[in-house]
Amino acid sequence: MLTLDTPVELVPKIGQNYQKRLKKLGIHTIEDLLLYIPSRYEDFSDVVDISKVKVGYSFCVKGKILEVKHTRTYRKWMDIVEIVIEDDSGSIRAVWFNQPYLAKTFKEDDFVCLAGKISLGKEGLYFNNPVHERLDELTESHSMTHTGRIVPIYPETRGLTSRWLRYIIKPLLVDFYNKFPEILPKEVLKKYKLLEAKKALWQVHFPDSFESADAAKAKFSFEELLLLQLAILKEKFKLIQKKAVSCPMDSELMKKFTKSLPFQLTDSQKQCSFQILMDLEKEIPMSRLLEGDVGSGKTVVATMSALNVVKKGHQVVFMAPTEILANQHYKTIKDLLSNFNVSVGLLTGKEAIIFRKEEFKTKRQTLLEDLKNGQIDVLVGTHALIQKGIEFKSLVFVVVDEQHRFGVEQRSKLIKSKGSIPHLLSMTATPIPRTLALTIYGDLDLSIIKEMPKNRKPIKTIIVEPIQRNDAYNFIRKEVKGGKGVFVICPRIEIKQPNEDELNHSTSVQQYNKIKSKIFSDVKAVKEEYEILSKDVFPDLKVAMLHGKMKPKEKEQIMLDFKNGDADILISTSVIEVGIDVPRATVMMIEGAERFGLSQLHQFRGRVGRSDIQSYCFLFTTSPDQLNRKRLKALVASNNGFELAQKDLEIRGPGQLYGTSQWGIGDIAMQGLGNIFLVEKTQQVAKEILKEDPELKNHPLLRERVDKFSEKIHLE
Ligand code: ADP
Ligand code: MG
Repeated sequence: MLTLDTPVELVPKIGQNYQKRLKKLGIHTIEDLLLYIPSRYEDFSDVVDISKVKVGYSFCVKGKILEVKHTRTYRKWMDIVEIVIEDDSGSIRAVWFNQPYLAKTFKEDDFVCLAGKISLGKEGLYFNNPVHERLDELTESHSMTHTGRIVPIYPETRGLTSRWLRYIIKPLLVDFYNKFPEILPKEVLKKYKLLEAKKALWQVHFPDSFESADAAKAKFSFEELLLLQLAILKEKFKLIQKKAVSCPMDSELMKKFTKSLPFQLTDSQKQCSFQILMDLEKEIPMSRLLEGDVGSGKTVVATMSALNVVKKGHQVVFMAPTEILANQHYKTIKDLLSNFNVSVGLLTGKEAIIFRKEEFKTKRQTLLEDLKNGQIDVLVGTHALIQKGIEFKSLVFVVVDEQHRFGVEQRSKLIKSKGSIPHLLSMTATPIPRTLALTIYGDLDLSIIKEMPKNRKPIKTIIVEPIQRNDAYNFIRKEVKGGKGVFVICPRIEIKQPNEDELNHSTSVQQYNKIKSKIFSDVKAVKEEYEILSKDVFPDLKVAMLHGKMKPKEKEQIMLDFKNGDADILISTSVIEVGIDVPRATVMMIEGAERFGLSQLHQFRGRVGRSDIQSYCFLFTTSPDQLNRKRLKALVASNNGFELAQKDLEIRGPGQLYGTSQWGIGDIAMQGLGNIFLVEKTQQVAKEILKEDPELKNHPLLRERVDKFSEKIHLE
């Protein structure tokens, strides 16, 4: 028997290819399918007499098929299926391109419903590629799926059509209508006038009206945000039951440290350091998020606090998301602390290094022993390595870079003594507006580095039109001859074959050609770009490439070559490491710039301009689209990540901005986060529920979902 937890593999009618595509969308079970919420709807609810249709508008009509015709044009791959239908008021033609199988779908004397735009051809008015649905003579409109009603359109379906999703989801809705559980308490439903779960589920997929679709979405928005708030509050609750070691601030030492730096700290850096040092004085475990634009100098802030902890006789660990970054942090920290008699260790998959007055390689085992005996003050490594049961003598402070969440549980695991956990500083360059950050990271305090170091020259950002390509290349050659490094970012790895599905469903010759050309010429693929740049454009320069399909070792070597100047130009997909510091790089060139979000473009741009030398960002685009132009112009106009995040929020909405995968929060919750009233309401409700029932013992279903949710956001 099918249950909500049944994996999609076991659902009838879902073949292997479809299973794969569903999984790409994060849909693993029937429950996931049912909770795959449409992004919008098409209104085909008004069925009109055929005689009423007019050219240029969309209509929905019902009628009997008089004729079915299948022809091919001189172009081999163009198939045309035509039918004529009639009702009491008249008759009309409908035409489909490149969907030959439709010839078999339609039979004379069958009843169909058609919905779509009316065109005018030589033979009069006709439906151009309409949506179609076969009907029994007696089919009632409420039981229709693709026409004759408000029809759901699903978001980003990667090879799955909305039609297919409706075909799969609708029977499941029927089966599970009475089995779909309500996780919200009755009083909450009543107080906030929310639809009951099963009703909301039906109405969100197949709404009776746009009002009930809105009501259904409101219910799911509320639910997701409530889960988020509950997860955060539970985490906070766990935290206040724990203790941490207090490390009073040594002002003299901090003064000495700032004096030892080759630069002056910015006001923001000082302020953030102070906030962190104040937290470290407490016995309450610190949970602080340090937000600062790329290149704003977060590492030195973290290192300063680390020094304070070390000199109180305790240990610090720095976790980086990748080995390259771990290496980079290690070097920075060891240099910054070189005058303070601190021992720093680096542990990666392939090496163990200790710096104690001088640097030496050692065995992994030796390093671990030293760590246990307290002979290493600061350990740097990747998240993955350090969470694998490493023992410290007295770990008091954890710094994590570019991993947004690090739960109380994860912290507890790092030290043996029960009831005590290390202080936590989490660093990120993701520019999250303050209000949003406070909701999503409600269990973290926030420090923001607002300004850039003074020595920085603003990066010159230029939109490059196709005809200016050669000028840009000449400029790049000049920079390289002067010893500079150049990044080139491409949107995809290799040129993709056109997606059959997409082609088959193209509605016209023009669209077909558009899809083809998009896939064949527009996408500047890394490999192809590498060929062109290394052979044709810059045969005299050292060109290298980097992409996600390479082995980690290969990637690392290439990054090092680029850092050291053994490669001049580095072509890469968007996998280019966040946070990588290559001061000699002065040009960031981005192909197909319109394909990236503003925040992501800003991140790429942050890879250059990391010293006092003038840097440049070239945005290559062939898109005339106004919205795209607007976004790129915003990037030219502003060098401030927070401002750009705000702009992206206005132009594209919150879901697009941060990428749902990054936070593990669904689209619908992201949309809800834009609504401050809803945020406050759900926070209030979460507090009330937990006050009565902190363990959610009386709400087992709710608890189960909160646990799932917490896991999702912590695993990021
Ligand atoms: P991010 O915040 O992106 O992690 P980093 O900590 O890597 O930035 O710092 C970027 C570069 O800026 C480093 O080379 C660092 O030494 C330098 N830096 C940090 N603070 C200052 C400052 N106040 N003045 C000048 N340079 C600074
Ligand atoms: Mg960094």
